[in-house]
Amino acid sequence: MRTAQTSKPSQALPHDQSRVLLVGAGPGDPELLTLKAVRALEAADVILYDELVDRAVLKHARREALLTHVGKRGGQPSWKQPDIHNLILSHAAHAKTIVRLKGGDPLVFGRGGEEIAMLRSAGIQVEIIPGITAAVAVAASTQIPLTHRDYSRTVTFLSGAGPGHGLPDFTHIDLEALNDGQHTLAVYMAVKTAGALGLTLLQAGWPASTPVLAVENASQPNERRIRATVTELAKKPTALALEGPTVLLVGRVAGLPVQGSLDIIETTIERVQTHNRELAYA
Ligand code: SAH
Repeated sequence: MRTAQTSKPSQALPHDQSRVLLVGAGPGDPELLTLKAVRALEAADVILYDELVDRAVLKHARREALLTHVGKRGGQPSWKQPDIHNLILSHAAHAKTIVRLKGGDPLVFGRGGEEIAMLRSAGIQVEIIPGITAAVAVAASTQIPLTHRDYSRTVTFLSGAGPGHGLPDFTHIDLEALNDGQHTLAVYMAVKTAGALGLTLLQAGWPASTPVLAVENASQPNERRIRATVTELAKKPTALALEGPTVLLVGRVAGLPVQGSLDIIETTIERVQTHNRELAYA
C-alpha cells in the first residue's frame, strides 16, 4: 500500500467505469468490519480514510492501493468537505474503485449524505456498505441495551456538536417531550458539550438522578466507561475526564449493570446504586 501526501486536485469528468464505495469501518475493533467492507478494501485502487478509522483496518488494502488520510488531525490543517469531494472526483476521472472509508457507519453523523448527493450529481456510481455505529458498539461492549421493554421504548442518536463546531445547542430537539422515563439518548460528539447537555436536560425536567453512561474508545483496548448522573454532567463534566471519542448514553438503561470495568464519579455512587437497585435485571 502507498500513502499519499495530497495536494488539491483539479476537477475532471468521471470515467464511466469508476465507482465509489462509502464504507463503514466500524467503531475501531478491526474484527467488527463487515465481510463486504473487507472485500471493498481488497478491491480498492484508492482509499480515502477518516481520522477515526483504526489503522489496523487498512491492512486489508492491496499493496498498490493509494491511501490518503482526509481526516482532521490535531495541529495540522484539516480537510474540508469540498476538498474531499474534489479529491474523489479527480480519482474518478480514471477508471478506479474508490473506497471512502468512514468510522462507524457512513450514514450516521458521517456526512455520507453529502457525498452521496455529490456523487449522484456527478453521475458516479455509488454503493454504501454499512458499519457498526459507535452507539451500537457501546451497547455491545457494556451489555447495556439501547432499548428495553421495561426501561426504554425509543432511542435517539443525537449530536452534541454545535453547527460548524460552534456553541453547543440542543434547541433542535424537544428534550421535554423525551422526558417520559422510556427514552434513551445516545449522544455523539459530546465531549466538549457534556456540561451544556446536562444543564439542558435538567432544564427540560429530566430527573436529577437520571443515569448517564459515558463510553470512550468503545471496542478498543483503551475503552473506558464512566457512570454519572445528569446532575454531575451539568455541574462538573470535567470530572468524567473525557478525551477520546465518546458516546454518552442517557436514560434509565444507562443505570443497568455494566459488563466489565466501570468508573463511577464519586458523588454519584449512592444515587447510582439506588438506580441500580431499581433497575437491575430481575
Ligand atoms: N459515523 C460514526 C460517527 C462519526 S461522528 C459512527 O457511526 O459511529 C464522531 C463521533 O462518533 C465521536 O465524537 C464519538 O461520539 C463517536 N465515536 C466514534 N467512534 C467511537 C468509539 N470507538 N467509541 C465511542 N464513541 C465513538
